[in-house]
Amino acid sequence: MKDYDVAVVGAGPVGTTFARYVAEKGLKIAIFEKKKDIGIPLQCAGLLGNKIKDVNILPTEYILNKIYGACLFSPSKTMISMRKKEPLAYVLDRINYDKFLAKLAVEKGAKIFLNHRVHGIDIKKGELRFKDKKISAEVIVGADGYSSVVSKEFNGDLKTVQAAQYLVDAGKNSFDDDYFQVNVNSEISPGFLWTIPISRSTARVGLFADYDYKTLNMILNKFMASDTKLKKARIIKKYHGQIPIYDPEKEVVKNRAVLIGDAASQVKPTTGGGLIIGFICAKLAAEVVHEAISSRNLSILKNYQKQYRKRYKNELKMQIKVQKTYESLDDDDLDSVILKLKEKGIGQIVSEYGDLDSQSVVMKEIIKSGLLLSVLPKLLSRKIFGI
Ligand SMILES: Cc1cc2nc3c(=O)[nH]c(=O)nc-3n(C[C@H](O)[C@H](O)[C@H](O)COP(=O)(O)OP(=O)(O)OC[C@H]3O[C@@H](n4cnc5c(N)ncnc54)[C@H](O)[C@@H]3O)c2cc1C
Repeated sequence: MKDYDVAVVGAGPVGTTFARYVAEKGLKIAIFEKKKDIGIPLQCAGLLGNKIKDVNILPTEYILNKIYGACLFSPSKTMISMRKKEPLAYVLDRINYDKFLAKLAVEKGAKIFLNHRVHGIDIKKGELRFKDKKISAEVIVGADGYSSVVSKEFNGDLKTVQAAQYLVDAGKNSFDDDYFQVNVNSEISPGFLWTIPISRSTARVGLFADYDYKTLNMILNKFMASDTKLKKARIIKKYHGQIPIYDPEKEVVKNRAVLIGDAASQVKPTTGGGLIIGFICAKLAAEVVHEAISSRNLSILKNYQKQYRKRYKNELKMQIKVQKTYESLDDDDLDSVILKLKEKGIGQIVSEYGDLDSQSVVMKEIIKSGLLLSVLPKLLSRKIFGI
């Protein structure tokens, strides 16, 4: 007899959400977390598309700001903007939201063991090894983020990119807190710079790109120095983290183990955002794991991989194409493509159809409107076919 039905490695938001669903179904579940304090340090900009309300519980006290629109800046500062009547996204208090999700899981019956770093696992036997003990479970769930030890047992280390972020105070009325801002250029592509206001005076300013942390900080400092609002801003706190690169071929089920969230590279290729996909996959996985355990048939676990791939194949494939196109353009290309899209009225299409989490919807509208044809010569000259 195993110690638990399910053992989850990692008490991040995706692991605790999964645990809540499984505990609700009456399974005996434990979460093992290496840190002593959930959610700390912050490794997130906390921007979540409005779909969050459909895919997880989000009490208003964890919403720091509501975002209604976005501004995209080309390298030479041509701006495209869009706005919606209803909130397009929310800026979250990620640290306290992570703690809240963990509390919900405990209330439903999950046990959380803090200060429990998993050193090794046996995915055939269903064993987790700690410094001074072992535990066993019918199913092991790797929700242990970009440095996942569970994922290593599948197919080696996850590929990641680095991200750096500052919390800044630029003084009263510095930001229009209805809009977040994205700056693109070829030095950091396929990454980008973001400015996400928390209030009219404070914002999270950051970037992800394929550089080391020191270089990212240099780029971020250069960006802030070139921006009228940000150049006088006070840096309150610096953060850094890693974002896994989405791998469409990644196995997410093997023997008695299942991967969810960042550990499964479940992140949007275009933005690096992982929370909404992670929450949706946590639910898919919870249903399959429950069925596999209650019917004593672990071969059912494979259904989770099938369902996840089916659900995300087209959307994420399209995002990879957008990302590769962006990566292939130099600064002049980006300037002329963004200018052309602006002249042809892309802002209106994005205002109507834009969705942070289903970017294929807006891409289809762009294709339908003939807008893509106007920038096609530039894209074709880069030998990008197929979008
Ligand atoms: C700078 C930055 C900005 C971002 N901004 C956004 C954003 O705006 N919107 C968005 O949707 N996403 C964003 N993301 C991505 C988002 O933070 C992740 O997708 C999300 O945290 C994934 O949740 P998770 O539960 O899968 O993993 P994590 O949050 O990484 O949690 C994994 C947990 O596992 C624990 N753990 C790891 N190894 C072990 C071990 N061996 N034993 C026990 N415990 C272990 C860790 O301590 C951690 O608590 C950002 C990421 C970065 C780095």
